[in-house]
Amino acid sequence: MPTYPASKSIAAIGGMVMNNCGGEKTLRYGQMRDFVNEIDVVLADGNEYTFGPISKEQLEAKMEQDNFEGEVYRKTFKLLDENYDLVKQAKPRTSKNSAGYALWEVWDKEEGVFDLSQLFVGSQGTLGILTDARVRLVKQPKHRRLATLFMKDWDKLPELVNDLLEVEPESLETFDDETMKLGLRFMPQIAQEAGENLLSFASQFTPELKIGMKMMGMPKLVVMAEFAEDDEDVMNEKLNKLPSIADAYDGVYLRIPKEGEGEKYWTMRRKSFSLLRESVGGKRTAPFIDDICVQPKDLPDVLPKVLEILEDEDIDVTLAGHAGSGNFHIIPLMDLTKEEEKEKIPRISKKVYKIIIEHGGTITAE
Ligand SMILES: Cc1cc2nc3c(=O)[nH]c(=O)nc-3n(C[C@H](O)[C@H](O)[C@H](O)COP(=O)(O)OP(=O)(O)OC[C@H]3O[C@@H](n4cnc5c(N)ncnc54)[C@H](O)[C@@H]3O)c2cc1C
Repeated sequence: MPTYPASKSIAAIGGMVMNNCGGEKTLRYGQMRDFVNEIDVVLADGNEYTFGPISKEQLEAKMEQDNFEGEVYRKTFKLLDENYDLVKQAKPRTSKNSAGYALWEVWDKEEGVFDLSQLFVGSQGTLGILTDARVRLVKQPKHRRLATLFMKDWDKLPELVNDLLEVEPESLETFDDETMKLGLRFMPQIAQEAGENLLSFASQFTPELKIGMKMMGMPKLVVMAEFAEDDEDVMNEKLNKLPSIADAYDGVYLRIPKEGEGEKYWTMRRKSFSLLRESVGGKRTAPFIDDICVQPKDLPDVLPKVLEILEDEDIDVTLAGHAGSGNFHIIPLMDLTKEEEKEKIPRISKKVYKIIIEHGGTITAE
């Protein structure tokens, strides 16, 4: 199930479907909606119904039913057919989106397919209660290897992301120094969750310490690019392209951890969101623009503008996210006991969302 979220240890299928979750493998495989075949849902009349893709003929038959289900089909079809172009044009141009109802996914006039299950995916439980879901799975690629790139600052992150995308990694993720610092602070708990003792877990970070010494400090950002292929030669070919990409940037250090050694980065990445909810330097994380998403090609324009807005308001931020999908969790650090800090939230949100929408993005990807 390649759509699993970073919160996979606490997520269940009902929430994953209703939240249209995505995660570290969405870059290659897509979001939850791409894997839902059919769902069973209890609707407002208290009855359970099955929804999935149906043909135009089946749709006609459903609409003729003199019951609640018939009414649901009649009303949604009318709405979608009468506003067909408007609805299709409203679809965000990003690879991920969890905002609003995905009306554009339901009625495909050209193919003659009507799929109400797509309306429920991502609907946050507002339309009915999911009782069952038939979903697709994918086969795990036979070979997999993680590459890590340590960045001294994040100025060139958008360009680096686009260069790495050319090599077609399976995942392209990132987390920042605040996550790392918190990771170090909470290492005993993280080691315990990874099922290892603290000493052996901590010793795995020796190569990173050496890189830190070379960089004369902690990297600002860790970028993780994982390559997964059935053919090992194809995977190695991709890995071989990485040194020249890293060399093209000042202050970027490449490390390809030994096989199996990459898990510590994944633990850190998956825990980044919950780690950052801890207090950082007396301030707390205030996640109000924390799930923005644009097409990766727009990152060089969008990311600096968003970070500048926060800088102008004198706000420190932490950054983690699904860089390859253009989806960033930018989390401001604020002291929300102060009135003037609270007032910044609507002001910043408005400016940031305007930039995102201008670029055909979404204010919440997952
Ligand atoms: C630390 C952290 C990291 C996260 N990382 C990611 C990530 O990488 N990607 C991502 O997509 N999301 C992420 N999330 C958000 C969320 O955890 C996931 O989307 C997850 O898939 C939701 O599943 P859940 O079981 O936790 O659902 P819940 O949070 O319980 O529910 C999610 C929504 O679905 C509804 N719902 C749940 N079950 C049903 C049901 N049976 N019928 C109808 N409605 C239902 C709820 O009402 C709610 O609106 C993260 C959250 C946290 C806290």
